[in-house]
Formats: sequence, C-alpha cells, structure tokens
Amino acid sequence: MKIRNSIKFQLGLLIILCNLNLFAQKQLAITIDDPNTKETPKLSWQERNDAILKTLDKHKIKVALFVCGMRVDNPDGKYLLETWDNKDHLICNHTYSHLNLNSKSISCAEYIDNFNKADSIITEYKNYTKLFRFPYLKEGNNAIKRDSIRTFLANEKYRNGSVTIDASDWYVDSEMIKALKENKNVDLTAYKKYYIQHILDRANYYDSLAQMVYHREIKHTLLIHHSLLNALFLDDLLIALENNGWKLIDAVEAFKDPIFEENPQIEPCGESLVWQGASQIEELSNTLRYPGEDEKYEKEPLRRMIKEYETSKNKN
Ligand SMILES: [Zn+2]
Repeated sequence: MKIRNSIKFQLGLLIILCNLNLFAQKQLAITIDDPNTKETPKLSWQERNDAILKTLDKHKIKVALFVCGMRVDNPDGKYLLETWDNKDHLICNHTYSHLNLNSKSISCAEYIDNFNKADSIITEYKNYTKLFRFPYLKEGNNAIKRDSIRTFLANEKYRNGSVTIDASDWYVDSEMIKALKENKNVDLTAYKKYYIQHILDRANYYDSLAQMVYHREIKHTLLIHHSLLNALFLDDLLIALENNGWKLIDAVEAFKDPIFEENPQIEPCGESLVWQGASQIEELSNTLRYPGEDEKYEKEPLRRMIKEYETSKNKN
C-alpha cells in the first residue's frame, strides 16, 4: 500500500512538473541558405548536395531551403532544386542577388525587383513556400525601408523566415576550404570540433536569451549553409544537438510558433529574431553585441583550437 501511494505521489509530482514546463524540451528546426553548384575541394557539388540530403533523411527532418536565385540560375541549379523538392523540403525565397537591405545604395524598389526575380525561379516547385529570408539577416537600415518591405511581403502573403539561432558556420567553412586548398590532405578534425562546439554554444545562448525575452521555450530555427562543411559534418552536428537535449523538428512545425509573427520596431533592423526581441528590453539590450554573429568573434578561437589540436597530435 505504502509503495503504491509513493508511486502515486511521484506520478502526481511528475504531472505537476510537466505542467510547469520544467521538462519542456528544447526544439529546433534546421534552415539551409544559399544552395549552390560552385566548385569546392574534396567533393563535387552533387556529392555535397547528396550528403546533406542523406543526412536530413537519416534524421527524418524536413528543412526550409532559402534559395538565392543567382546561385541556381542554370540547368545544374534547376536539378539541385528538384532534388530538394522531391524530398519535400520547403523551397523559399532569399532574393536573386543576395542584396543587403541595410546598404544605403539599395532602394526598396530595387530590392522588390530582386525578390520577384528570385520568386520566378522557385514558384514552379511543389514545395514552394512563401517564406522570405533576408540576406545577412538585414531587414532595413531605417524604419521606412524596414516597414516598406514588411508591407510588401504581407501583401504578397509572404512571411519572414526569421532565424532565432544565428551562427557563423560560413566562416568555419571558408577557413576549412582555404586550408584544403593549401593542402588537400589537411586533417579536418579541429574544424569539425570547432563547428559543433560553436553551434551548441550559439544554440544554448539564443535559447537562454529567448527564455528571458519570452519567458517560455520557443521553437527555434537554426541558420546553416549549403556548404562543404555541412556535407562533411552535418550528421555529427545533428547527433551532438540531440545528445545535448535538442529535439529536431520540421521547419514547417517551427514556423508555427507565434514568435514568428513578431515585427520588432528597431533601427537598423536585423539579426536573429531573439536578438531583436532582446534589443527592445533595456536590461538585455546592453548585453548584446553588434552584429550578433560575425567572423571577428570566431577568428581567434578557431585559430587557437587548430593550433592546440596540432600540438596535441604531434605529442602523441
Ligand atoms: Zn545567404
């Protein structure tokens, strides 16, 4: 009897704790920007593309692919998009020429033309989805540009494909490619280790910032790129995320979170959506760095990790 009561008590406690959200699991969807068919060392573009798609299949997740028109405006690019469409990933807009809306030389009219040019490339796919990702996550250097583009997108029934977890995978990729061009047999272990550590760190940072801004567990969107780095190490990254308590969810599921309806009124506008939310709260705004993510934050730590790895390897 006593045992049964104790089990009942424990069950009751568990239900209360669950309702209190203490066990709410951290969730994130993968979003992939800038699919391309360019030349890189080690793998052909087809091999890179296949490797990324295979990893996503293995983890049974559907992502949002943000297409920059100029990188796929050729027969190879068309074929690449078909492979993603066939696997039912979302095919979304990322402008034609990767324009920076915060640049003073870019007008709203030019930006909209460029948006439309990209749209004409992706509308034919069955998984065409009206989500727009601002290149560089720059949403306007002033309120007029910010609001004009927001109004334009709303009229087009488009939603902002915001990023909640921003990172610099592109920088690790570019450094790794540089090293491979110098020596095609270079050991990539330190790059892989740095990449995984960097994403886990950014994911936990933006998640704790989100808790402070929204007082709940939000559904996150992580930004990574269609790159050699992810062709080689995306599987390791996804395993590491799961081992660190992250549940991988489909992009369509993540974008249902009401956080993605928010339109922070900040100038200049941009960065991660969580960063934007935090920048509107005085106590949090002075903890933020600008830009939120950049190569300048990663340069030294990456160099150090490579050096330490080489030293330890030579010792053994
Ligand atoms: Zn991009």
